[in-house]
Order: sequence, then structure tokens, then C-alpha cells
Amino acid sequence: MRVPVIELSDCIRCGVCVEVCPNVFSETDAGYIQVTDLDVYPEEQVEEAIKNCPADCIAWEDL
Ligand code: SF4
Repeated sequence: MRVPVIELSDCIRCGVCVEVCPNVFSETDAGYIQVTDLDVYPEEQVEEAIKNCPADCIAWEDL
């Protein structure tokens, strides 16, 4: 199974991933971006977030 992961030390918290793919990415109260636990991730939407992330800090990880 593939899950999206965010390299938080590179994330500039621009919110693009949340806009593109809100069912997967969200912002915590503390202002960090988190990945929602899902059984299956919507491939195309996550790819869109990966493509549009200005910090290039979202990647797929094989579990
Ligand atoms: S698009 Fe990238 S840099 Fe912007 S909030 Fe999401 S993970 Fe962080």
C-alpha cells in the first residue's frame, strides 16, 4: 500500500495540498499539515498535490 508522507521540515505551510486534496491533507490547530489515515488514497488527487507542492516535500511511501 502506498501512503503520502510530508517532509515537515521542508513544508512551508502554503496550504496548496489542502486546497487540492482536502480529504487527505489538513492543517492541525498548531498549523502543521497532516495526512489523514485512509484505507486507500486517491491517487490522482495526491499526485496533483505532489506536483503542485512548491517545496516538493510530499512523496509516496510504500508500506
Ligand atoms: S503543498 Fe507542500 S509546502 Fe504547501 S502545505 Fe502542502 S506539503 Fe507544505
